[in-house]
Parts: sequence; C-alpha cells; structure tokens
Amino acid sequence: MRKKILAANWKMNLTQSEAESYFAAFNSEIGEVDDVEVVIIPSFTTIPALVSASEKMPSIRIGAQNMHWEKSGAFTGEISASMLRALFVKYVILGHSERRALFGETDEIVNRKVRAALEAGLRPIFCIGETLRERDAGKVEEVLSRQVRLGLEGVSQKDLSEIVVAYEPCWAIGTGRTATPAEAEQAHAYVRSILTEISTATVADRIRIQYGGSVKPDNTEELMRQKDIDGALVGGASLDPRSFVRIIRRAEAALK
Ligand code: PEP
Repeated sequence: MRKKILAANWKMNLTQSEAESYFAAFNSEIGEVDDVEVVIIPSFTTIPALVSASEKMPSIRIGAQNMHWEKSGAFTGEISASMLRALFVKYVILGHSERRALFGETDEIVNRKVRAALEAGLRPIFCIGETLRERDAGKVEEVLSRQVRLGLEGVSQKDLSEIVVAYEPCWAIGTGRTATPAEAEQAHAYVRSILTEISTATVADRIRIQYGGSVKPDNTEELMRQKDIDGALVGGASLDPRSFVRIIRRAEAALK
C-alpha cells in the first residue's frame, strides 16, 4: 500500500515572517495526520525556520525546490545536496517544468541532479509532464517515456523506490485547468508501466506517483481515488494554509 504524499510547492513566494505566520495557521488547523504524508516546500531561505517549527510534527516534512548536482565548488548562487541534508531536508523537487522551461534544464541535467540527491540521502520529487503542444500532437506517451527513462538512467533498483514521481501536465500548472481524473489516471498508469520496464513490477508498485496541476480542495478527492494517483504536488492552492489543510483532508477522505 503506497502512502499518499501531499506536497506544497510554494515556488518563489512567502518571506520568512510570512512563512512563520502561514505555519502557525496551518498548525492550528491541521490536527492529527496519520494516513498521509505531508511535505511543505518553501524557498531555501525559509527552510531552517520551518524545519524548527515542524520539529514536533512527525508527519510534516520540509523539502527544497531545487539543488545543484555537484557536491561543492565554483557554482555561484547554487545549493548542494549536502547543504540541504545538513538542514534536515528530506525531499527535493527536481525537473519541475518551470525549471525545464525557464532555466533550460534538460533530461540529462535532471538525471545528474536525481543521482546526486539520492547519493546524499535526499528523496527526489522527480517532475515530468507534457506541454499542450505535445498533448495535441499525440505525443504524451513518447514524452513521458523519454523523461522517465533519461531522468532515471543509472538509478539503482533500491534507489528507485525512494523516488516520488510527480506527473504534472504543463498545460495544467497554474492555469486553473486540471486534467480530468481519467486523463490523469491514464498518464499515471502509463508512467508506472515504464517504471516496471526499467525496474520490476515490485519496485514500480512501490513508487509513488503524485499528480500536479491546479489541484484544489474541490478536485482533490476524485483525483486521489484513482488507482495510480498517490498524492498531489500543489502550487497555487497551497499558499493559503486553510486551503492546503482542506486538500489534505480531502486526500484522507479518499482513503475511506
Ligand atoms: C506546481 O507548480 O507544481 C503546480 C502544480 O502548480 P499549481 O498547483 O499552481 O498548478
């Protein structure tokens, strides 16, 4: 049984004091969380404050939005995996479509980052997803297959089960347009079939595949009821603590 994982990708939003206010509101609403895993992923500057604020909340993890693949060196402005580990970060988003589209990250770069993260003991939230143009051209499977195979090349069977895959169709990110549960499930099932090809059915069955793209409280439950959807990566709707708590509650409701 794969434990569902709900992650809040704050992107470049919330200063440290705004994040602390967010966390206080989130903390007062969230109550017990046993059946799902929750990850909050702020900007780098806010990680230490949130790690210490979440110390007494074992089911809440703090993640990072990016990292460099090298261990150290002359890479001005970059952050390494060991720097994140030293802050007790557990998850790191890699290959987000905004990094691919705006910062030129290729499948090869994403692969270097995935391997460096795993080597340092971090769990990648490895993002994949097609653009609208690729979907309209009937290339969804071709794109997903390429991104999975190249992005996870050289990753051991043991490390593969540490990875969380986030299927995020680019046309659904920040647009208010969500994939239907059937569209999302079809893509997730296909991704799992590729994961089976590059590993084994047992390993692929353990890997969690999140859906991302305009997830909101109202569409969470139906998405989470799909067989191969194991959680959500939430952008815009995670910036309001009450809305993120409602998303977590709808995900828990989908388990019943
Ligand atoms: C994201 O950036 O990962 C995302 C899914 O954003 P949104 O929920 O705003 O579409």
